[in-house]
Amino acid sequence: MKDFNLENLVRPNILQLKPYSSARDEYEGNTGVFLDANENPFGNLNRYPDPYQKEVKEQLSTIKRIPVSQIFLGNGSDEVIDLAFRIFCTPGRDKALVFTPTYGMYEVSANINNIELLQLPLNKDFQIDKNAVIPVLKDENLKLIFICSPNNPTGNSIENIDFILENFNGIVFVDEAYIDFSPRKSWSEKLDQYPNLIISQTFSKARGLAAVRVGIAYSSPEIIALFNKTKPPYNVSQLNQEAALVALVDEKKYHDEIQAILKEKVRVEKALAKLPVVKNIYPSDANFILAEVTEADKIYNNLVEQKIITRNRNNIVANCIRVTIGTPQENDQLIAALKAYKNR
Ligand code: PMP
Repeated sequence: MKDFNLENLVRPNILQLKPYSSARDEYEGNTGVFLDANENPFGNLNRYPDPYQKEVKEQLSTIKRIPVSQIFLGNGSDEVIDLAFRIFCTPGRDKALVFTPTYGMYEVSANINNIELLQLPLNKDFQIDKNAVIPVLKDENLKLIFICSPNNPTGNSIENIDFILENFNGIVFVDEAYIDFSPRKSWSEKLDQYPNLIISQTFSKARGLAAVRVGIAYSSPEIIALFNKTKPPYNVSQLNQEAALVALVDEKKYHDEIQAILKEKVRVEKALAKLPVVKNIYPSDANFILAEVTEADKIYNNLVEQKIITRNRNNIVANCIRVTIGTPQENDQLIAALKAYKNR
């Protein structure tokens, strides 16, 4: 981070990009005779939405104590991930880095954007191996590092993020999709300290709006400006902005649901730990648990036959299934099904 130079990191075509200027960019008021955007004058959803989602950002800004100029909203955090590749990595030349096992979209997004993805395995505690990462940080084509914390699918929080931030001159993207369930503080508190830090969060998990598709990035005003100029003009629909705003106003519902999910998580962990088919439960700071079982494929299929859908992670963490914490009734069904399961 000592030699951090944002301009050197940005793709030249993005640096030079003259962004699309939408009709709504030029006049900010809500009232007036709007004959500028070729809309149908009749109806309720006939107008293009606010391209910069001011109301949602102002509410978020108050809650998180982060200035509006440091907030970006996307079509889910998946859009934020994709934009990071498009802004910082030149296809066919630059590289990104992830620590595996982790969230699969980093790899898909890298492939879509024709960016080489380096993959370093997490150690046996699912933590970053400092010695393995040090030489990789010096690769001058490495522009972007994704760190998912709490990590999906392992559930644990990742240590040594400050070490990466301090020793890497490129962008460090900390994916905090599950941070609302974690006792740890968000890295968004360190934005002033690290100009190379991007944090993503989402309305899809604790805020209960996966169907709505709203993701968040927090970063420096300069990086947020790059996101704003690269995104499609109306990337968050009017309906999505309204739903996000409603969710932000109801802070009690948000906190109550998190508490209910965390309480259930403790119950499910205890119940599963007693079952002969469960060999290990990894510690989780998220709303899911990774469980090592006796025979993941068979158990997963047996649960599917009973219409209980978990995530079979056997191909990336041996014999593990990932279980999202559901309602008490749903969790009871899972526990009962696993109790009744006999190894074949
Ligand atoms: N990051 C992580 C770690 C995730 O697990 C997910 C969704 N499963 C996402 C990002 C994407 O979330 P969304 O696009 O719904 O905001």
